[in-house]
Amino acid sequence: MKYPLTVGAMMEHAEKFFPKKEVISQTHDKLHRLTYKEVGKRTRRLMSALDKLGIEQGDKVGTLAWNTHRHLEIYFAAPGIGSILHTINIRLSPEHIIYIINHAEDKIIFVDKDILPLVDKLHPHLPTVKAYVVMTDKEELPENSLPNVYSYEELLQEGDETYPFTRDIDEDSAAGMCYTSATTGKPKGVLYTHRAIALHSYALGLADTAAISESDVAMAVVPQFHVNAWGMPFACTWFGSTQVMPGPRFTPKRLATFIEEYKVTISAGVPTIWLGLLKELDENSYDTSSLRGVLCGGSAAPLSMVRAFEQKYNIPFFHAYGATETTPLATYSRLKSYQQDLSPDERANEKTRQGILVPGLEMKVIDENGEIPWDDETMGELLLKGPWIADTYYKDERSKTAFIDGWYHTGDVVTVDEEGTMKIVDRTGDLIKSGGEWISSVELENAIMAHEAVFEASVVAIPDEKWDERPIACVVLHDQYKDKVAKSDIAEYLKPQFAKFWLPDDYLFVDEIPKTSVGKFLKRELRKQVLEHLNLA
Ligand code: AMP
Repeated sequence: MKYPLTVGAMMEHAEKFFPKKEVISQTHDKLHRLTYKEVGKRTRRLMSALDKLGIEQGDKVGTLAWNTHRHLEIYFAAPGIGSILHTINIRLSPEHIIYIINHAEDKIIFVDKDILPLVDKLHPHLPTVKAYVVMTDKEELPENSLPNVYSYEELLQEGDETYPFTRDIDEDSAAGMCYTSATTGKPKGVLYTHRAIALHSYALGLADTAAISESDVAMAVVPQFHVNAWGMPFACTWFGSTQVMPGPRFTPKRLATFIEEYKVTISAGVPTIWLGLLKELDENSYDTSSLRGVLCGGSAAPLSMVRAFEQKYNIPFFHAYGATETTPLATYSRLKSYQQDLSPDERANEKTRQGILVPGLEMKVIDENGEIPWDDETMGELLLKGPWIADTYYKDERSKTAFIDGWYHTGDVVTVDEEGTMKIVDRTGDLIKSGGEWISSVELENAIMAHEAVFEASVVAIPDEKWDERPIACVVLHDQYKDKVAKSDIAEYLKPQFAKFWLPDDYLFVDEIPKTSVGKFLKRELRKQVLEHLNLA
């Protein structure tokens, strides 16, 4: 049958087949426990409210919100009436948020209570927004100067809990939208079709990827405003998993407590989140035995992190790779059947690689000579295509340089081994060119972070007359090692691991590494700081 895949149908499935399963959600004020039956009804009420407010098919429904059940309801209500869920990164600068809302032409904005003061300031610059909805538990709205402002719960009370999900939707129409957290230039918008989201959800359920299923208690720590929390809210709802949503301004303590209390089986986040959690686990004792997997992506996970999870805490660790443009899951690091007898260290090493391509996608790695050999040495840029890979940016000239001849050019430089296992060695702009040879900043960073005294490290290039560029390492030490570890200790530690020309020219001890709004090293800013420090700016 020619049968359309739609996001609304995913929630209907959960209502019908998993009515008793729960969504556990921390909001500003309290912990909520709702069943999918209740979440389904609330989603329907919200759809009727959106309809009454005049939201039509193709309109953009903006959210500035944390991971909560309300955000989950909007995930299904907006596409459920054929409008487009537009999640906005709350950590971007006000200028970028204004740009994004105006560029997307959002009609309505849902905003969490603690983000309201920001929106209150921005609204004079947002001419397309006709209504604001504050997501709060309280009866009364917090003080604000917004025009046409509604309380989420009041809207729901007046809504119709039998309102139908629109099934008559073209599966190739947009259900969601997200802007990339740009490190240079304006953010770029990506649309996700109903079909892409559904197929991507299936991909998350495959036994050889995240294997998300009904029996999971899933906690997406990755924000719902960052590539749809990597698609977990969609997949988990469809498959009837219990969802644990850590809510506003969560701490590593809250994450560890939730893992213990709700027996979380799978969780997903960026390396910075896991560094924080590991520190919490080191300092306080928790029962994490329920975890069957921790999914890490967004930037490269260092070996020390894989080892800590797998060897110290006995928690299986999975590296996944993707981007805003890829919905995002593209590769997944699960060892093959014949790799299972690797030693613990070999396993950990293998898992620092980003893994193999998820079925359904196609990849190609190219350099100036064409496709590179899969010899684990030659570096090239990764190109992707497939049913959940974007084919353009939303109304953006920059599409021309990223989407060429049916391939998405990721800007990620990788090597591939004979197993087809991919390793990210850098962003095209972050590789260091020294004496005509490439140095991978990521590999150096990972090696430095494997030193027990190191909390985190980032390597950037500085200009060099003789060699063109040379690497400089910025290192944050664990508190207990500060003043006890010298540059030479780190240098000696790296020496046997790399060719001489790869070794950083200097090691700067810093208090922190600047990060992007989604917790990645902000290399541009770090490079600027290093150049200033060395009087090279
Ligand atoms: P974003 O669009 O913010 O999700 O960023 C996507 C980019 O993050 C990719 O193009 C990669 O450069 C980087 N990235 C994502 N996952 C990984 C990973 N597992 N390891 C290394 N880099 C990653």
